[in-house]
Amino acid sequence: MNGRETDVAIVGGGLAGGLIALALHRAHPEMRFQLIEAGAALGGHHRWSWFDSDLPEGGHALLAGFAKTEWNDGYEVAFPAYRRALAAGYRSLASSDFDAGLRAVLPASALRLGSKVSALDVGGVTLESGDRIAAQAVIDCRSVLPSQHLQGGWQIFTGRHFKYGRPHGLSQPMIMDASIAQHAPSGNRSAYRFMYVLPLAKDELFFEDTYYDETRALDEDLLGRRIDQYAADMGFRDGVEIGREKGILPVITGGNFDAYRASIDIPGVAMAGARGGFSHPLTSYTMPIAVENALAIASHAHLSGPLLAHFVRERANEHWRKTSIYRALGRMLFKAAEPERRVDIFQRFYRLPEDLIERFYACRTTLPDKLRILSGKPPVSIPRAIRALASKGDPLIMENTE
Ligand SMILES: Cc1cc2nc3c(=O)[nH]c(=O)nc-3n(C[C@H](O)[C@H](O)[C@H](O)COP(=O)(O)OP(=O)(O)OC[C@H]3O[C@@H](n4cnc5c(N)ncnc54)[C@H](O)[C@@H]3O)c2cc1C
Repeated sequence: MNGRETDVAIVGGGLAGGLIALALHRAHPEMRFQLIEAGAALGGHHRWSWFDSDLPEGGHALLAGFAKTEWNDGYEVAFPAYRRALAAGYRSLASSDFDAGLRAVLPASALRLGSKVSALDVGGVTLESGDRIAAQAVIDCRSVLPSQHLQGGWQIFTGRHFKYGRPHGLSQPMIMDASIAQHAPSGNRSAYRFMYVLPLAKDELFFEDTYYDETRALDEDLLGRRIDQYAADMGFRDGVEIGREKGILPVITGGNFDAYRASIDIPGVAMAGARGGFSHPLTSYTMPIAVENALAIASHAHLSGPLLAHFVRERANEHWRKTSIYRALGRMLFKAAEPERRVDIFQRFYRLPEDLIERFYACRTTLPDKLRILSGKPPVSIPRAIRALASKGDPLIMENTE
């Protein structure tokens, strides 16, 4: 299919690209677009979860068509010193349901799966096959890459989904059970570690073992065994594994955003998704930010390619500015707290008012929230906290890969 033309070419059918395509199609059904994805399915192979309170106006409507699991009776967190129930609703969407939801709504002719893009420019994209798609606007939503211009550490996890022969009796998600041993997988080091448990159906549980570490290494077998042990301790020994996921996500604690963008920007091409800087620096999650961005892009879809690129870049700059508090907290986590005391930072944070916690996850932390988060006796020593806040952090590069 040489010489195809379209209004908008979206490169990368992950969360960001898929949501932009959906928002575009809903706002401008007449507009031609191509969603070009290297893989065989949209959204990859994992699940996204978020708090209902995270979503911006219009976000619920955008996500309404996807089959997802919803918990409306709150969630729990647990720390060495206490356990707390919070009220916010929680949602989880499997990528297979993301893929099915998009295919049900988007025109089949707009989807190009199994098509890797080899080059992007202001006038369109070139596929690895040699095909060229000319476009009025190009949006780069390819995967995020580690960068020497950004600093921080890693959030590392393995998730396992089990089916049981009987109801498990759990009804609320456990978002963070940090009452468990704070061990990094390798050596005797500690790391901030927690278990995450989602009751996905009355006879299905999803467990995720997560830790924050400076070293980018995932021992999937070890994390898998720790999940078995945790489930067994809860009385669940007879589960049949029906799904698995793993991830190593960058936790951004600082860096030079302009230099990062300059190293990957393509003139006249808009960049969205985690690659464009649209992520929560501390949780590495992107769902609410991707929803907000998709809606904003759809409402500016008639801009020329370069103007759209400028518009999205301004949004990325603004996002970087307004998320500095989360990068500072990340520096406290990695640099100020002794590894075995990192849990104290989250243990203290979760004692704060619930509306502040909701704004924290949604990247809507206010100035009074910041003062509240940083006031009082810090859970780390003050000289270490000052050094951490002033520190540069470690570059987020590909050393120590699996
Ligand atoms: C296991 C796991 C669990 C996660 N859980 C959550 C969660 O619960 N909540 C949350 O908000 N976030 C979660 N995340 C973080 C997640 O990475 C982001 O939320 C989100 O997936 C980022 O979306 P994206 O579209 O920016 O990038 P991606 O999802 O990485 O999508 C990029 C897409 O671009 C495609 N691509 C790359 N290069 C090319 C090319 N040359 N041509 C064509 N296509 C290309 C890729 O195949 C991919 O599909 C999780 C991540 C993982 C790995």
